[in-house]
This record gives sequence, structure tokens and C-alpha cells, in this order.
Amino acid sequence: MAKSSALKARCKLCGQDVSYGQLTRHLQKCVPDHPPASKGKPEPIRVVRLSASGMFLVLELPAKSKFFDLDDALRAIWLECCGHMSMFTVRENGEKVMYTADAEGGDSEGFYGWLPREKPMSSRIADVLQVGVKGEYEYDMGSTTHLKLQVLFEHMAPWPRGKPKVRLLARNLKPEYACDTCGQPAVHACAECVMEEGDFQRLKLFCQEHAEQHIADEHEDDDCVLMPLGNSPRDGVCGYEGTEEDELPYVWT
Ligand SMILES: [Zn+2]
Ligand SMILES: [Zn+2]
Ligand SMILES: [Zn+2]
Ligand SMILES: [Zn+2]
Repeated sequence: MAKSSALKARCKLCGQDVSYGQLTRHLQKCVPDHPPASKGKPEPIRVVRLSASGMFLVLELPAKSKFFDLDDALRAIWLECCGHMSMFTVRENGEKVMYTADAEGGDSEGFYGWLPREKPMSSRIADVLQVGVKGEYEYDMGSTTHLKLQVLFEHMAPWPRGKPKVRLLARNLKPEYACDTCGQPAVHACAECVMEEGDFQRLKLFCQEHAEQHIADEHEDDDCVLMPLGNSPRDGVCGYEGTEEDELPYVWT
């Protein structure tokens, strides 16, 4: 199904394709050549990687940003289907802390020590997402998409006015899927039919032509069963219909 090309990254600043292992080193050189803005007062900017099953985004945002800013960008580029809840989990001084939209009332102490401490997403990332910190992000508490988060490095640069508070630096190349019928690139999965491959199951994949044939033959022309295959860990989950174009507002040089 997905080939190893999923572990190659496209640098959004210079357009070069880089292996996953080389990416951080590449960005440490490439970001200073393509700063977020060329004029203005330099400020600390954090570079963060979010990853899930072979897919990843590397984003940067000013250290003064809030968790909400990162949450907004992740939803817009990668995850949003129908406004589900989300949260970040980070360890602070050995203690698990959740950042949620619900904690707007303020900092909670946790529930008799059973639940992690909860803080609002309006908190700034500066003191929390420091270089080297690892954490998690979850979108949708039902059909949850889990992401791993790691802060890769920090640099100093001005941030432009009138641009989003998050910039996309690199992303995995779109996985190549093959049509189960003809082997050409697949663009749809059937939400109802699963293919059994040894010990695991997966959705059936189709090119445009065979997708149409499949729904005519098997699903009485009900095209609601077809889901687009994009480049997101949310592909095929809930009502997700995002495409790679969703990243465009977050990419600039
Ligand atoms: Zn580059
Ligand atoms: Zn949904
Ligand atoms: Zn086909
Ligand atoms: Zn089907």
C-alpha cells in the first residue's frame, strides 16, 4: 500500500526532497536562508514536528504563540472534519499536563490525582514547548487521531504581519497508493469494503475509473461510500475530506 516514499520530506522553503533522517539538519540551514520575514525585530521561533504513522509536518511558530495557534494550523492543514475536541499533552517537571480548550476557566489541579492537570490552550507555548520537549496531540476523543510532537530547534527571526501565526516548513511526500483492480495510482478508498491482507484489514483502494465501476457494481451507485485519499493521518476517518491544498495559507518564503 503506502511505499517508503512516505518517509521522504519536501522542504517547503527550497522545494528540495530530503530524507526524514536528514530533515532537521536541512532545515537548520535552510530556515536562515528563508526567514519568515526579512524585516522587523527578531524574536525566538520554535520549530516543531508532528508525526503519525509515516506522515509528518514540520511547523514553526513564534515562542510567544498560544497552543490555540498550533491547534488551528493542525486542524486547517491536516485534521479538521467536524469540529471535534482536541488536546495537547506534555510532561512538565515529570508531571503530565493536558492543554485543552475546555480548561478556559483556568488551571485545574486534576481530579484527586487521577486525571492529569489541565491548563487552557490560551497558554503561551514559550515556557512549555522548549527545544527537546516531546509531547502528544489528539484530535477527536471518539475516532482519535494521535500525533507525536517534538520541538526540534529554535531560531531568531522577525515574523511578518498579516500572515498566519504558524508556517509550514516541511511535509512528507504524499504516500503512493495503488488501485486494487489495476495498480494505477489510487485516489479513493471505499468506506464500506475491506481487503484482508494476512493479519490485518484495510479499505479497498481505487483509481477514478475503478472507483466508479466499484460503486456501480457493489453499492448501487451510492458515491457516498467513496473517500478521497489525501495526505493526512485523518484520511478515511469520520467525514475528513481535506486535500494537500489546505496547506497553502501556511506556506510562504
Ligand atoms: Zn530547504
Ligand atoms: Zn468528524
Ligand atoms: Zn484502477
Ligand atoms: Zn465498496
